[in-house]
Amino acid sequence: MTALSIVIPCYNEADCIDELHRRVSAVAQAQAGSDYELVLINDGSKDTTWAAMQRIAASDPQLVAINLSRNHGHQLALTAGLDLCRGAHILILDADLQDSPELLPEMLAAMHAEEADVVYAVRRARAGESAAKKATAALFYRLLAALTDTSIPLDTGDFRLMSRRALDTFLSLPEQARFIRGMVAWIGYKQIPFAYDRDARYAGETHYPFTRMLRLALDAITGFSTTPLRFASHAGLALTGISLLLLVYIVAGWLAGNTVAGWTSMMFVIVGIGAAQMFVLGMIGEYLGRLYMEAKGRPLYIVSEVLGTARSGTRLGHRGDELASGVQHRDQ
Ligand code: UDP
Ligand code: MG
Repeated sequence: MTALSIVIPCYNEADCIDELHRRVSAVAQAQAGSDYELVLINDGSKDTTWAAMQRIAASDPQLVAINLSRNHGHQLALTAGLDLCRGAHILILDADLQDSPELLPEMLAAMHAEEADVVYAVRRARAGESAAKKATAALFYRLLAALTDTSIPLDTGDFRLMSRRALDTFLSLPEQARFIRGMVAWIGYKQIPFAYDRDARYAGETHYPFTRMLRLALDAITGFSTTPLRFASHAGLALTGISLLLLVYIVAGWLAGNTVAGWTSMMFVIVGIGAAQMFVLGMIGEYLGRLYMEAKGRPLYIVSEVLGTARSGTRLGHRGDELASGVQHRDQ
């Protein structure tokens, strides 16, 4: 088994990749000699990221480069890398160098000193990110904490160090809508925080615009909590009570012969209840959608090729070798 795996999902990171390779390799070599692997996942980039990975793989035997068949999103790209990596210790990193790889020795030391299975990095400060992003992130982590039963640490991204035992347990969770930091918190074992300051991106723009953040937030909340579902039924119950009272009022008004005068309040009620119903339906739809996605039981990602030596036989993903050769046959 390799001592150390560093797993990095990359989407349109062509400008970062050489600097990333240089800094991560230096840290890994100092830590583990040549007993490490650098696992880069190309998540269907539209730029030259894959070409850069191929170029690096040609000269660096430590590199494992995984090319997904299309963009699967950060969480699934990361899952592909985690599935295929072989290390006894696994560091999850972003490609943009916002999370400094040089923190690895300290994180490893903390892991050994406290005999922990997970060392998760908690952001003390975040450089180079907009006030709106920081505010929505802060709000999201607090809302999540209020709604979920699993205690998911605040201000923690996917930057973390894991033991093989923790990773294998994590990989046994089969769900499709993956909120990795929550799932890692859920598995338990000893998990310790590690405070750090988040840097600005080395190059390029964030790939988490508001809509993607919202998607992640919904996956997180519906994946780890049924509180919104319960809230929906409570609200529905309360509204039923109120509308029964209103019905009495409306009938009394009709008996007294002044129905037209109540138009404004009627409209108010119609709109109010309509909105409440839509909200409740929306929440139910959210869970139903999840059930539907899970029930399909599709592989989480498709690998189209792997350079270097990676772990074979994945439980969650579809190993693309057969698929790729299948495609070739059809072409011939
Ligand atoms: N990423 C990915 N697939 C995507 C979007 C992002 O693999 O569809 C990777 C990206 O290359 C980076 C990490 O996920 O390594 C985090 O993305 P980003 O830095 O854009 O997010 P932020 O740090 O702004 O939250
Ligand atoms: Mg980033």
